[in-house]
Amino acid sequence: MIELLPEETEFRGTLARLVDAEIAPAATEMDARGEFPAAWFRRLAELGYLGLRYPESVGGGGAGFVLFLILCEELGRGSLSLAASVAMQGLMATDFVFRYGTADQHERLLRPALRGEKIGAFCLSEPNAGSDLGAIETTARRDGDRILLRGRKMWVTSGTVADFFTVAASIDRTQGVRGIRFFLVEKGAPGLVVGRRIDKLGVRASETTELALDDCPAVPLGDGGAADLGRILDQVRVMTGALAVGLSRAALDLAVRYARQRECFGRPIAKLQAIQHLIADSAVDLEAARLLVYQAGRRLERAVRGAGEAAIAKMFASEAANRIADRTSRVLGGYSFSTEFAAERYLRDARFLLIGGGTSEILRNVVAKEVLGE
Ligand SMILES: Cc1cc2nc3c(=O)[nH]c(=O)nc-3n(C[C@H](O)[C@H](O)[C@H](O)COP(=O)(O)OP(=O)(O)OC[C@H]3O[C@@H](n4cnc5c(N)ncnc54)[C@H](O)[C@@H]3O)c2cc1C
Repeated sequence: MIELLPEETEFRGTLARLVDAEIAPAATEMDARGEFPAAWFRRLAELGYLGLRYPESVGGGGAGFVLFLILCEELGRGSLSLAASVAMQGLMATDFVFRYGTADQHERLLRPALRGEKIGAFCLSEPNAGSDLGAIETTARRDGDRILLRGRKMWVTSGTVADFFTVAASIDRTQGVRGIRFFLVEKGAPGLVVGRRIDKLGVRASETTELALDDCPAVPLGDGGAADLGRILDQVRVMTGALAVGLSRAALDLAVRYARQRECFGRPIAKLQAIQHLIADSAVDLEAARLLVYQAGRRLERAVRGAGEAAIAKMFASEAANRIADRTSRVLGGYSFSTEFAAERYLRDARFLLIGGGTSEILRNVVAKEVLGE
């Protein structure tokens, strides 16, 4: 078990009570509606969770990265859709505006975003470029004193409801990843067209959409390019690992509860060694995932960058979550098919963890590169 500081344990306890009493019981309905969970979003904002990791000077909670991971894990235990929306708002969607935004942008966008009054989105992926970020086709060009973006973005989490967008675009397509810069686009900008909600397999209450930018005016957010991309991807990967730990805990808990009460051949299935082994394998997966995620998180909190560590944590935790959701589904037998139990949602939601923030194949490439010293 990873050691937490007393204030981290206390934070987890308070949040866990909310998750158990209110969020987990609401998760099935959130999933069935398939809409952005606006009421929950506002409630979590009022409790200070959206701005958790930002300094108090911009209206945040002044917490470290590990506390943010605990937030993601606990919410992920209740509803991965809600957790993914909150994680987007608390990290990728606001990070560049916080880091590079002007005082005016902080006042008009960041502070309201941390209060849950405005929603942000992060637009990196495109219809023709996801893993291969050097191939992004959206371009940024100067037109007098304006910067205009042209291209399309795909899989924009919260895009349907967003008030502002951090958009990755290339200033020089011959430079690949090194040509990428980040820009701010606000809702209602000329040339910005937001698509319809994509009907998805999992994380259904986290809305996702496509964007078109047709010579859309934008404002630069820093000049960090590839360095900014690496920094944010490390954080996103460890954060996704924490979401995976949350889902894994929920799935394992369900398997244990069910195995204790379901009887076959005159005794609870928890007495069958085959079922015990499924549960034991899930417990081992969960423990290893938790250790990797929080170790990587602690190091990021101390500003020790480690692309390899973040990739290892995300890859292991997301694959473990899929194995655990699968084992829970086996324990539940036929009932794993019923929406009466969360097992089927865990299976569907876990698939997202294998993709968002980098697929397992891409993460293996990152790890191999680091191990081989290339
Ligand atoms: C629910 C959801 C929400 C998302 N939210 C956002 C968001 O808010 N913002 C955003 O920018 N993106 C978002 N994404 C996009 C996500 O980051 C991409 O889907 C992901 O990076 C993979 O890109 P792709 O889908 O284009 O797959 P591709 O890159 O086309 O990959 C297809 C397959 O080829 C494999 N592959 C590709 N290249 C290699 C290689 N070099 N070696 C080995 N295998 C390889 C991949 O692993 C995968 O199996 C979201 C995705 C989902 C599903």
